[in-house]
Amino acid sequence: MHTNLRIPGPTPLPEAVLRALSQPMISHRSAEFKQLFKGLLADLQHIFQTESDVLLLAASGTGGMEAAIVNTIRPGDAVLAVSIGYFGDRFAAIAETCGARVTRLTFPWGQAADPEAIKAQLAAQPDTRAVLVTHNETSTGVTNDLGAIAAVVHSLGEGSPLLIVDAVSSIGALDLPTDAWGCDIVTTCSQKALMAPPGIALLSVSPRAWRVIEQTPTRSYYFDLKALRRRAAEGETPATPPVSDMFALRAGVDLILQEGLTNVFARHHRIGEYTRQGILALGLGLLADPRYVSDTVTAVTFPPGMDADAIRSRLRKEFGVVLGGGQGPLKGQIARIGHMGYVSEEDIAAVLSALRAILA
Ligand code: PMP
Repeated sequence: MHTNLRIPGPTPLPEAVLRALSQPMISHRSAEFKQLFKGLLADLQHIFQTESDVLLLAASGTGGMEAAIVNTIRPGDAVLAVSIGYFGDRFAAIAETCGARVTRLTFPWGQAADPEAIKAQLAAQPDTRAVLVTHNETSTGVTNDLGAIAAVVHSLGEGSPLLIVDAVSSIGALDLPTDAWGCDIVTTCSQKALMAPPGIALLSVSPRAWRVIEQTPTRSYYFDLKALRRRAAEGETPATPPVSDMFALRAGVDLILQEGLTNVFARHHRIGEYTRQGILALGLGLLADPRYVSDTVTAVTFPPGMDADAIRSRLRKEFGVVLGGGQGPLKGQIARIGHMGYVSEEDIAAVLSALRAILA
């Protein structure tokens, strides 16, 4: 049976990416590697919509989030962690682990963050050094209005806190104009919309963020962004890079460039709409506030008495359709359909028809 992997990451790998993964190993200290690495970083700048540095780390998305924090925050610094779900909570927890004085501004799961509430919190805590925010909350299928949040943060002027964005389930699928919105650090990883296997974290770092990083004592050897940047300028990494994952990411990025960013965003929007309409037509519900629905992941709610996990299990066993489950307080209550990266309407049509059969 063909597996229709529709979890919100890791996402299915296109043929070209699978082929790239089978390339023979090369020296990570060769001219060939330097060319691969420099080309990849330049094209990632385009995908991140930034002229700032993009850095690459062997880590999952969580590693990218931790690298962003440990390089910019000193123990005792005030940080505002805006959370609308499971991954917003994780960002707050990472900052706490790094010793920050974290104020959590949380919103009900399924809702987006209210920029006015962020503004009020920043006014109440003027020494806030950084704002942590999730662009697209994968646990609830909600996309924050990051443009409005960025505007609120920057309305504080020169001394405004750094804006640090978890864009794990958005870069390469949702429009995130990093420079135009003034996002200081944007982090994502390889296994979502970039269509590569897990293993690479990516971060864009603004000149403003670099100024803070340069004044922040280094507290992580492996996640030292200064060292990463220094070596990247030479086309190398401080430690052994994830070479095969980079071959794969190269192929995924090529697919995005061939399709064109605007077309990629439009395809995700079209498929997001298609998914939501299909779910509603089946008599099922959407967890997300309709104004902030995500075009990369749809969180589906079920009528009382219907067991979301039992339905997911039947989808997998009888139809080869693999959906994500609920996380945290939503465990067992919802199903999450991933539609980012290598996805077409046909993939979603197959999910909908399998669901229809089970509901009947
Ligand atoms: N943030 C978001 C929004 C995510 O969707 C995920 C992964 N699902 C993460 C962070 C964590 O990424 P990873 O599992 O690669 O560490």
